[in-house]
Amino acid sequence: MRLKDIFIKMLKEKNIERVGTTIRKIISSDDPIKMMALYIANGRANICPSKTYSGISFKLDGNKCYDPPQAYVGRCKDVIFTKDELISKGYFPYIVIDCRYHDLHSKKEKKKLLLQIRQTLGVIREYMWDDRLIVTLKCGCGRYYQSSEDFLRQMDFKNVILLDPNAENIYNGEKADCYIIGGIVDKAGNKKGLTSKIGEELEKAGFSVDSRKIVLRGDTVGVPDRINHITEIILKVVLDEKSVEDAIREVQPPIIAKWRLRKELHEYTIRVMLKNTIFRILPKSVFNEFKWLNLRLEDFYRVCSEQKFIVVSDRLFEEVKRSKWDEKRRCYVLG
Ligand code: SAM
Repeated sequence: MRLKDIFIKMLKEKNIERVGTTIRKIISSDDPIKMMALYIANGRANICPSKTYSGISFKLDGNKCYDPPQAYVGRCKDVIFTKDELISKGYFPYIVIDCRYHDLHSKKEKKKLLLQIRQTLGVIREYMWDDRLIVTLKCGCGRYYQSSEDFLRQMDFKNVILLDPNAENIYNGEKADCYIIGGIVDKAGNKKGLTSKIGEELEKAGFSVDSRKIVLRGDTVGVPDRINHITEIILKVVLDEKSVEDAIREVQPPIIAKWRLRKELHEYTIRVMLKNTIFRILPKSVFNEFKWLNLRLEDFYRVCSEQKFIVVSDRLFEEVKRSKWDEKRRCYVLG
């Protein structure tokens, strides 16, 4: 469950169906109930009993309503429930962005890293609240620690997962107290294996971490590797209870789906020779085989065209397969 769902559950338990506020950022948000929960968890407001009140009232589905609120989010001493009560009612893991290899990044990569950290905070706020993001870089996002080791030493967790694309073991949706993600942006392509080094250093410092790779049908190709995307995949799995495959597809940008398609498509083609020219064809229905990728039909056609594969109707494809087979050239011969 997300923080917002816990908040709604607690309000319902108190028979509260309408909550008001005068906080502008909440009122203008596209998800005011989520924002209320976030304000409370971030310690910026309380949930208070409604008295004479002039704000805007929201139903728990987020729609505005004209009936007076039964509680409001603002500042008060006689809170309905405390921030600690709210955050202790759910499972909310920590996400640590380990930036120990920051110095290895170019100026451009450092900029991209900052952007990804900011976007990760955006993801964290969709599911949890700011405190759950730990960053070992002073950048004004989440909570700063000098190192992951410092943070782990303070917390004494039972299980910590290091997300590492080069790990031996596969991530199957395991819940952990803390997930560590490498604060690594890989534009220059010279940082392969660095996440495993983070794991080795943590082990050397006496922390036992479970290294896991996220794979899509057996391969990391097609798994988005941005820090914010990895965070979102994990939170969709552990808080929304989605399967790893569904979570990947929901987060996967089409450009990354296309990388995976390029890797797979060849298998669906057959070689055909017409007037001494050999080319590859595949039936249009192959597109339906890739429902597990976040692909649009236009992406499918684009990849086929760049690989010089010709898409034909299923009927034509079957017809071609009935033509003469040339064993030497390993192709069907037309005409
Ligand atoms: N080049 C780095 C390496 O080989 O270790 C990977 C950098 S990746 C851009 C940034 C971070 O996202 C990684 O440190 C890792 O924590 C996480 N990550 C990316 N893809 C992953 C995958 N398929 N499985 C697990 N973690 C992944």
